[in-house]
Amino acid sequence: MWIVPEAKIADLITAEASFAAVEAVFAAMARGDAYNFPVIREAIGHGDALYGFKSGFDRAGLNLGLKSGGYWPGNANKGLTNHQSTVFLFDADTGQCRAVVGGNLLTALRTAAASSVSIKHLARQDARVLGMIGAGHQSAFQMRAAAQQRNFDKVIGWNYHPEMLSRLADTAGELGLPFEAVDLDRLGAEADVIISITSSFDPILKASQVTPGTHIACMGTDTKGKQEVEAELVAKASVFTDEVAQSVSIGECQHAVAAGLIAEGAINELGAVINGTHPGRGSQDEITLFDGTGVGLQDLAVAAAVVDLAIARGIAVEVDF
Ligand code: NAD
Repeated sequence: MWIVPEAKIADLITAEASFAAVEAVFAAMARGDAYNFPVIREAIGHGDALYGFKSGFDRAGLNLGLKSGGYWPGNANKGLTNHQSTVFLFDADTGQCRAVVGGNLLTALRTAAASSVSIKHLARQDARVLGMIGAGHQSAFQMRAAAQQRNFDKVIGWNYHPEMLSRLADTAGELGLPFEAVDLDRLGAEADVIISITSSFDPILKASQVTPGTHIACMGTDTKGKQEVEAELVAKASVFTDEVAQSVSIGECQHAVAAGLIAEGAINELGAVINGTHPGRGSQDEITLFDGTGVGLQDLAVAAAVVDLAIARGIAVEVDF
Protein backbone atom coordinates (compact mmCIF):
# COMPACT_ATOMS: atom_id res chain seq x y z
CA MET A 1 0.00 0.00 0.00
CA TRP A 2 1.19 3.50 -0.82
CA ILE A 3 1.00 6.60 1.35
CA VAL A 4 1.27 10.06 -0.14
CA PRO A 5 1.53 12.59 2.70
CA GLU A 6 -0.31 15.91 2.51
CA ALA A 7 2.95 17.89 2.60
CA LYS A 8 4.25 16.25 -0.59
CA ILE A 9 1.23 16.95 -2.76
CA ALA A 10 1.83 20.60 -3.67
CA ASP A 11 4.98 19.63 -5.58
CA LEU A 12 3.29 16.75 -7.37
CA ILE A 13 0.07 17.93 -8.96
CA THR A 14 -0.67 21.11 -10.86
CA ALA A 15 -3.95 22.97 -11.34
CA GLU A 16 -3.78 21.91 -15.01
CA ALA A 17 -3.51 18.20 -14.13
CA SER A 18 -6.40 18.56 -11.66
CA PHE A 19 -8.48 20.25 -14.35
CA ALA A 20 -7.83 17.38 -16.78
CA ALA A 21 -8.69 14.72 -14.17
CA VAL A 22 -11.96 16.45 -13.19
CA GLU A 23 -13.05 17.18 -16.75
CA ALA A 24 -12.44 13.52 -17.68
CA VAL A 25 -14.37 12.14 -14.72
CA PHE A 26 -17.38 14.46 -15.31
CA ALA A 27 -17.42 13.13 -18.87
CA ALA A 28 -17.20 9.51 -17.62
CA MET A 29 -20.12 10.14 -15.21
CA ALA A 30 -22.30 11.46 -18.02
CA ARG A 31 -21.45 8.44 -20.20
CA GLY A 32 -22.48 6.13 -17.33
CA ASP A 33 -18.92 4.80 -16.90
CA ALA A 34 -18.51 6.21 -13.40
CA TYR A 35 -20.89 6.65 -10.53
CA ASN A 36 -20.90 8.08 -7.01
CA PHE A 37 -22.26 6.24 -4.00
CA PRO A 38 -24.70 8.09 -1.72
CA VAL A 39 -23.01 10.75 0.38
CA ILE A 40 -22.92 10.66 4.15
CA ARG A 41 -22.46 14.07 5.73
CA GLU A 42 -23.50 14.80 9.30
CA ALA A 43 -23.21 17.51 11.90
CA ILE A 44 -21.45 15.39 14.53
CA GLY A 45 -22.45 17.57 17.47
CA HIS A 46 -18.83 18.32 18.39
CA GLY A 47 -16.71 21.35 17.50
CA ASP A 48 -19.45 22.55 15.11
CA ALA A 49 -17.98 20.00 12.69
CA LEU A 50 -19.58 18.52 9.59
CA TYR A 51 -18.14 15.10 8.81
CA GLY A 52 -18.76 12.42 6.22
CA PHE A 53 -17.75 10.23 3.30
CA LYS A 54 -17.85 10.70 -0.44
CA SER A 55 -17.15 7.61 -2.51
CA GLY A 56 -17.60 6.05 -5.91
CA PHE A 57 -16.27 3.87 -8.70
CA ASP A 58 -14.94 4.85 -12.09
CA ARG A 59 -15.10 1.69 -14.22
CA ALA A 60 -13.14 3.32 -17.01
CA GLY A 61 -10.27 4.58 -14.84
CA LEU A 62 -10.65 1.70 -12.30
CA ASN A 63 -10.67 4.22 -9.45
CA LEU A 64 -12.53 2.84 -6.43
CA GLY A 65 -12.49 4.49 -3.05
CA LEU A 66 -13.63 7.24 -0.74
CA LYS A 67 -12.76 10.55 0.77
CA SER A 68 -13.30 10.78 4.48
CA GLY A 69 -13.41 14.22 5.95
CA GLY A 70 -15.32 17.37 6.64
CA TYR A 71 -15.34 20.92 7.85
CA TRP A 72 -14.15 22.17 11.25
CA PRO A 73 -14.88 25.91 11.41
CA GLY A 74 -12.63 26.45 14.45
CA ASN A 75 -9.50 25.11 12.75
CA ALA A 76 -8.34 28.45 11.37
CA ASN A 77 -7.73 29.66 14.95
CA LYS A 78 -5.48 26.62 15.46
CA GLY A 79 -3.45 27.39 12.33
CA LEU A 80 -5.12 24.54 10.44
CA THR A 81 -7.25 24.41 7.31
CA ASN A 82 -10.98 24.25 8.12
CA HIS A 83 -11.39 21.37 5.66
CA GLN A 84 -9.64 18.18 6.73
CA SER A 85 -9.80 15.12 4.53
CA THR A 86 -8.02 11.95 3.47
CA VAL A 87 -8.56 9.87 0.32
CA PHE A 88 -8.45 6.06 0.41
CA LEU A 89 -8.07 4.19 -2.91
CA PHE A 90 -8.81 0.47 -3.25
CA ASP A 91 -7.79 -2.10 -5.84
CA ALA A 92 -10.92 -2.63 -7.96
CA ASP A 93 -10.00 -6.30 -8.56
CA THR A 94 -9.18 -7.36 -4.98
CA GLY A 95 -10.63 -4.74 -2.62
CA GLN A 96 -7.24 -4.28 -0.99
CA CYS A 97 -6.32 -0.78 0.12
CA ARG A 98 -4.03 0.59 -2.58
CA ALA A 99 -3.24 4.05 -1.28
CA VAL A 100 -3.88 6.66 1.41
CA VAL A 101 -3.51 10.22 0.14
CA GLY A 102 -3.70 13.56 1.96
CA GLY A 103 -6.92 15.19 0.75
CA ASN A 104 -6.72 18.83 1.84
CA LEU A 105 -4.92 20.47 -1.07
CA LEU A 106 -6.57 17.99 -3.44
CA THR A 107 -10.03 19.12 -2.25
CA ALA A 108 -9.22 22.75 -3.03
CA LEU A 109 -7.72 21.84 -6.41
CA ARG A 110 -10.54 19.54 -7.51
CA THR A 111 -13.20 22.04 -6.36
CA ALA A 112 -11.52 24.88 -8.23
CA ALA A 113 -11.11 22.60 -11.24
CA ALA A 114 -14.87 21.91 -11.26
CA SER A 115 -15.90 25.56 -11.52
CA SER A 116 -13.11 26.10 -14.03
CA VAL A 117 -14.48 23.24 -16.18
CA SER A 118 -17.92 24.90 -15.97
CA ILE A 119 -16.48 28.26 -17.06
CA LYS A 120 -14.65 26.63 -19.99
CA HIS A 121 -17.83 24.98 -21.26
CA LEU A 122 -20.56 27.48 -20.27
CA ALA A 123 -19.28 31.05 -19.87
CA ARG A 124 -19.42 33.52 -22.76
CA GLN A 125 -16.14 33.64 -24.68
CA ASP A 126 -16.03 37.43 -24.26
CA ALA A 127 -16.35 37.33 -20.43
CA ARG A 128 -14.09 40.06 -19.00
CA VAL A 129 -15.14 40.66 -15.37
CA LEU A 130 -14.88 37.93 -12.74
CA GLY A 131 -17.06 38.37 -9.64
CA MET A 132 -16.13 36.54 -6.45
CA ILE A 133 -18.54 35.96 -3.55
CA GLY A 134 -16.55 34.52 -0.65
CA ALA A 135 -13.00 35.15 0.50
CA GLY A 136 -12.16 32.02 2.52
CA HIS A 137 -9.50 29.38 1.96
CA GLN A 138 -11.03 28.03 -1.27
CA SER A 139 -11.59 31.41 -2.90
CA ALA A 140 -7.97 31.89 -3.98
CA PHE A 141 -7.89 28.47 -5.69
CA GLN A 142 -11.19 29.28 -7.38
CA MET A 143 -9.95 32.61 -8.72
CA ARG A 144 -6.66 31.16 -10.03
CA ALA A 145 -8.45 28.30 -11.83
CA ALA A 146 -11.09 30.63 -13.31
CA ALA A 147 -8.39 32.94 -14.66
CA GLN A 148 -7.08 30.05 -16.81
CA GLN A 149 -10.33 29.93 -18.78
CA ARG A 150 -11.11 33.45 -19.99
CA ASN A 151 -9.24 36.66 -20.65
CA PHE A 152 -10.47 38.49 -17.54
CA ASP A 153 -9.33 42.09 -17.15
CA LYS A 154 -10.75 42.72 -13.67
CA VAL A 155 -11.88 40.93 -10.52
CA ILE A 156 -14.59 42.31 -8.26
CA GLY A 157 -15.62 40.74 -4.98
CA TRP A 158 -17.94 40.73 -1.99
CA ASN A 159 -17.67 38.86 1.29
CA TYR A 160 -19.89 38.54 4.34
CA HIS A 161 -16.78 39.23 6.45
CA PRO A 162 -15.23 42.26 4.70
CA GLU A 163 -11.98 41.92 6.69
CA MET A 164 -11.22 38.78 4.63
CA LEU A 165 -11.35 40.58 1.26
CA SER A 166 -7.57 41.10 1.27
CA ARG A 167 -7.24 37.44 0.18
CA LEU A 168 -9.10 38.26 -3.04
CA ALA A 169 -7.05 41.44 -3.60
CA ASP A 170 -3.78 39.53 -3.04
CA THR A 171 -4.77 36.67 -5.35
CA ALA A 172 -5.90 39.05 -8.11
CA GLY A 173 -2.57 40.85 -7.66
CA GLU A 174 -0.71 37.53 -8.15
CA LEU A 175 -2.61 37.11 -11.41
CA GLY A 176 -1.80 40.67 -12.51
CA LEU A 177 -5.47 41.71 -12.33
CA PRO A 178 -6.98 44.78 -10.63
CA PHE A 179 -9.37 44.02 -7.76
CA GLU A 180 -12.25 46.08 -6.42
CA ALA A 181 -14.50 45.33 -3.43
CA VAL A 182 -18.11 46.06 -4.43
CA ASP A 183 -21.65 45.64 -3.10
CA LEU A 184 -23.82 42.81 -4.43
CA ASP A 185 -25.79 45.12 -6.76
CA ARG A 186 -22.59 46.12 -8.55
CA LEU A 187 -21.22 42.59 -8.48
CA GLY A 188 -24.33 41.25 -10.21
CA ALA A 189 -24.49 44.14 -12.68
CA GLU A 190 -20.82 44.07 -13.74
CA ALA A 191 -19.59 40.47 -13.50
CA ASP A 192 -19.72 38.20 -16.57
CA VAL A 193 -18.72 35.17 -14.47
CA ILE A 194 -19.62 34.86 -10.78
CA ILE A 195 -18.19 32.25 -8.40
CA SER A 196 -19.80 31.83 -4.98
CA ILE A 197 -17.74 29.89 -2.45
CA THR A 198 -19.08 30.53 1.06
CA SER A 199 -20.49 28.62 4.04
CA SER A 200 -23.78 30.51 3.82
CA PHE A 201 -27.13 29.06 4.90
CA ASP A 202 -29.09 32.01 3.45
CA PRO A 203 -29.31 33.31 -0.11
CA ILE A 204 -26.71 35.99 -0.82
CA LEU A 205 -27.19 36.85 -4.51
CA LYS A 206 -30.68 37.80 -5.74
CA ALA A 207 -32.21 37.02 -9.14
CA SER A 208 -32.80 40.74 -9.73
CA GLN A 209 -29.08 41.50 -9.30
CA VAL A 210 -27.81 39.26 -12.12
CA THR A 211 -27.66 40.44 -15.74
CA PRO A 212 -28.34 38.37 -18.90
CA GLY A 213 -25.40 36.35 -20.22
CA THR A 214 -23.78 35.77 -16.82
CA HIS A 215 -22.32 32.40 -15.87
CA ILE A 216 -22.58 31.59 -12.15
CA ALA A 217 -20.69 28.77 -10.46
CA CYS A 218 -22.25 28.05 -7.06
CA MET A 219 -19.53 26.12 -5.26
CA GLY A 220 -20.18 26.56 -1.53
CA THR A 221 -23.43 24.64 -1.11
CA ASP A 222 -22.52 21.04 -0.40
CA THR A 223 -24.82 20.23 2.53
CA LYS A 224 -28.54 20.17 3.22
CA GLY A 225 -29.72 23.62 4.30
CA LYS A 226 -26.86 25.63 2.79
CA GLN A 227 -27.73 28.26 0.16
CA GLU A 228 -25.82 30.96 -1.72
CA VAL A 229 -28.27 32.32 -4.30
CA GLU A 230 -32.02 32.92 -4.35
CA ALA A 231 -34.05 29.96 -5.58
CA GLU A 232 -35.59 32.39 -8.12
CA LEU A 233 -32.13 32.87 -9.67
CA VAL A 234 -31.74 29.11 -10.09
CA ALA A 235 -35.19 29.06 -11.72
CA LYS A 236 -34.19 31.84 -14.12
CA ALA A 237 -31.01 30.09 -15.27
CA SER A 238 -30.08 27.12 -17.46
CA VAL A 239 -28.85 24.80 -14.76
CA PHE A 240 -25.93 22.36 -14.91
CA THR A 241 -24.36 20.27 -12.19
CA ASP A 242 -21.74 17.64 -11.49
CA GLU A 243 -24.38 15.14 -10.34
CA VAL A 244 -28.15 15.62 -10.36
CA ALA A 245 -28.79 13.43 -7.27
CA GLN A 246 -26.46 15.59 -5.18
CA SER A 247 -27.68 18.83 -6.73
CA VAL A 248 -31.26 18.25 -5.57
CA SER A 249 -30.34 16.87 -2.13
CA ILE A 250 -27.27 18.78 -0.89
CA GLY A 251 -26.53 21.26 -3.68
CA GLU A 252 -27.75 24.75 -4.55
CA CYS A 253 -30.73 23.33 -6.47
CA GLN A 254 -32.21 21.71 -3.34
CA HIS A 255 -34.16 24.91 -2.55
CA ALA A 256 -35.53 25.63 -6.04
CA VAL A 257 -36.63 22.00 -6.43
CA ALA A 258 -38.24 21.90 -2.96
CA ALA A 259 -40.10 25.14 -3.72
CA GLY A 260 -41.38 23.68 -7.01
CA LEU A 261 -39.59 26.39 -9.02
CA ILE A 262 -37.65 23.90 -11.15
CA ALA A 263 -38.05 20.21 -11.90
CA GLU A 264 -35.21 17.76 -11.33
CA GLY A 265 -35.42 16.92 -15.04
CA ALA A 266 -34.39 20.48 -15.95
CA ILE A 267 -30.98 20.04 -14.31
CA ASN A 268 -28.29 18.96 -16.78
CA GLU A 269 -25.01 17.18 -16.21
CA LEU A 270 -21.96 19.28 -17.10
CA GLY A 271 -20.43 16.04 -18.39
CA ALA A 272 -23.06 15.96 -21.15
CA VAL A 273 -21.79 19.33 -22.40
CA ILE A 274 -18.19 18.03 -22.26
CA ASN A 275 -19.26 14.93 -24.24
CA GLY A 276 -21.16 17.05 -26.76
CA THR A 277 -24.52 15.42 -26.02
CA HIS A 278 -25.90 18.71 -24.58
CA PRO A 279 -25.26 21.97 -26.45
CA GLY A 280 -24.52 23.94 -23.24
CA ARG A 281 -25.10 27.72 -23.41
CA GLY A 282 -27.97 28.43 -25.80
CA SER A 283 -27.43 32.16 -26.41
CA GLN A 284 -25.31 35.14 -25.40
CA ASP A 285 -28.15 36.34 -23.15
CA GLU A 286 -28.78 33.11 -21.28
CA ILE A 287 -27.84 32.94 -17.60
CA THR A 288 -26.04 29.65 -16.99
CA LEU A 289 -25.59 28.27 -13.48
CA PHE A 290 -23.30 25.44 -12.42
CA ASP A 291 -24.23 23.77 -9.14
CA GLY A 292 -20.89 22.32 -8.04
CA THR A 293 -21.78 20.00 -5.20
CA GLY A 294 -18.45 18.17 -5.08
CA VAL A 295 -18.51 14.46 -5.91
CA GLY A 296 -16.35 11.66 -4.56
CA LEU A 297 -15.22 10.74 -8.07
CA GLN A 298 -13.47 14.12 -8.37
CA ASP A 299 -11.43 13.24 -5.27
CA LEU A 300 -10.60 9.76 -6.53
CA ALA A 301 -9.55 11.11 -9.94
CA VAL A 302 -7.08 13.67 -8.57
CA ALA A 303 -5.82 11.29 -5.84
CA ALA A 304 -5.15 8.54 -8.40
CA ALA A 305 -3.22 11.03 -10.53
CA VAL A 306 -1.16 12.02 -7.47
CA VAL A 307 -0.37 8.39 -6.55
CA ASP A 308 0.93 7.70 -10.07
CA LEU A 309 3.10 10.82 -9.95
CA ALA A 310 4.35 10.06 -6.42
CA ILE A 311 5.31 6.47 -7.34
CA ALA A 312 7.04 7.62 -10.53
CA ARG A 313 9.07 10.22 -8.61
CA GLY A 314 9.93 7.93 -5.68
CA ILE A 315 7.98 10.11 -3.22
CA ALA A 316 5.21 7.63 -2.28
CA VAL A 317 5.88 5.70 0.93
CA GLU A 318 5.28 1.94 0.56
CA VAL A 319 4.00 0.07 3.64
CA ASP A 320 3.10 -3.57 4.27
CA PHE A 321 -0.56 -3.48 5.21
P1 NAD B 1 -13.61 29.19 4.91
O1 NAD B 1 -14.07 28.85 6.27
O2 NAD B 1 -12.15 29.42 4.69
O3 NAD B 1 -14.40 30.48 4.39
C1 NAD B 1 -15.78 30.57 4.58
C2 NAD B 1 -16.36 31.63 3.66
O4 NAD B 1 -17.77 31.72 3.89
C3 NAD B 1 -15.80 33.02 3.92
O5 NAD B 1 -15.86 33.77 2.72
C4 NAD B 1 -16.81 33.58 4.94
O6 NAD B 1 -16.82 34.99 5.01
C5 NAD B 1 -18.11 33.03 4.35
N1 NAD B 1 -19.18 32.96 5.34
C6 NAD B 1 -19.13 32.43 6.58
N2 NAD B 1 -20.32 32.56 7.18
C7 NAD B 1 -21.15 33.16 6.29
C8 NAD B 1 -22.51 33.55 6.31
N3 NAD B 1 -23.27 33.35 7.38
N4 NAD B 1 -23.03 34.14 5.21
C9 NAD B 1 -22.26 34.35 4.11
N5 NAD B 1 -20.97 34.00 4.03
C10 NAD B 1 -20.42 33.41 5.10
O7 NAD B 1 -14.16 28.04 3.95
P2 NAD B 1 -13.62 27.56 2.54
O8 NAD B 1 -12.61 26.48 2.74
O9 NAD B 1 -13.26 28.73 1.71
O10 NAD B 1 -14.93 26.85 1.96
C11 NAD B 1 -16.07 27.64 1.62
C12 NAD B 1 -17.27 26.76 1.43
O11 NAD B 1 -17.06 25.90 0.32
C13 NAD B 1 -17.56 25.83 2.62
O12 NAD B 1 -18.92 25.98 2.94
C14 NAD B 1 -17.29 24.45 2.10
O13 NAD B 1 -18.12 23.47 2.69
C15 NAD B 1 -17.57 24.62 0.62
N6 NAD B 1 -16.86 23.65 -0.20
C16 NAD B 1 -17.53 23.09 -1.24
C17 NAD B 1 -16.88 22.17 -2.05
C18 NAD B 1 -17.58 21.59 -3.24
O14 NAD B 1 -17.04 20.68 -3.87
N7 NAD B 1 -18.72 22.09 -3.61
C19 NAD B 1 -15.56 21.80 -1.78
C20 NAD B 1 -14.90 22.41 -0.75
C21 NAD B 1 -15.55 23.35 0.04
